[in-house]
Amino acid sequence: MRSDPNHVLAFPGGYTRSVGPVIGRFLSELRDGRLVGVRTAGGRVLVPPAEYDPETGEDVTGEFVEVGPVGTVTTWSWVPRPAKEHPLDRPFAWALIRPDGADTALLHALDLGVFDEGAKPPRSLRTGMRVRPRWRAERTGGIGDIACFLPEVTMINAPTRLEYRLQGGRALDRFLEGIAEGRILGHRCPVCDQVIVPMKGLCPRDGVPTGEEVELPDTGTVTTFAVNNIPDPRAPEVPFVSAYVLLDGAGLTMLTLVAGIPADQVRMGMRVKAAWRPREEWGRTMANIRWFEPLDEPDVPFDEIKDYL
Ligand SMILES: [Zn+2]
Repeated sequence: MRSDPNHVLAFPGGYTRSVGPVIGRFLSELRDGRLVGVRTAGGRVLVPPAEYDPETGEDVTGEFVEVGPVGTVTTWSWVPRPAKEHPLDRPFAWALIRPDGADTALLHALDLGVFDEGAKPPRSLRTGMRVRPRWRAERTGGIGDIACFLPEVTMINAPTRLEYRLQGGRALDRFLEGIAEGRILGHRCPVCDQVIVPMKGLCPRDGVPTGEEVELPDTGTVTTFAVNNIPDPRAPEVPFVSAYVLLDGAGLTMLTLVAGIPADQVRMGMRVKAAWRPREEWGRTMANIRWFEPLDEPDVPFDEIKDYL
């Protein structure tokens, strides 16, 4: 790979010149947080766009196509010791990334969360890995509007949130009180009869206040899960699995980690049990449950969990 990152980042294989309408459009879209390519007469989508089809020399059509922003790494080169002109101050990879919908790849820095100078490339770095841009909050219309690319969290189903922050409130206080005693408490909704855990004092389905307290077992079933390649302080190692677990008797899933099993063996319908930290470490926090571990029980058929996805 080339070693002049500014030029490489700007237009791989390119050269310095004023920006014409095609590149100008690309940069303007970047400023607005979008990646676009341009369609060639032959129907291919070039990213970054060029004014001429590099294969035929013909003018491109002028039709811009939004691509990505998620893309696939087509090749990479590990930089164990970044130089000061590099875009990241820790080990990273230069990667050729083909955004979804594009026929060409663009070169950018890929941050794999490696902080030790001189470290080897992590196992997760490979051709074919899925990545997405980290946009800068302040964008100016340059390729640097993308600070770098990050590994995509690989999902097996529909969009779902990976962040989990409990909102304060009386119901939550009570829930954490239970957790501090090793009990998992929920509320039964007077309308739909489902048990909401952690309770929020309100049924999200019916919007009615809830108050009837129910204690649930610490066993449940994985409904959906995600394999994460980004290190997380709570997780044992990368890749780790975050999952929605439907506790037995609950009407809503809760987000947790699943461990004690290789990431590629976690499955929908898998039975799990909470792995509590030692009692002397308990506090008023969900961290009392380190994660969920597999139970030696048959998987629950998909039909029985499909309404909870
Ligand atoms: Zn309800």
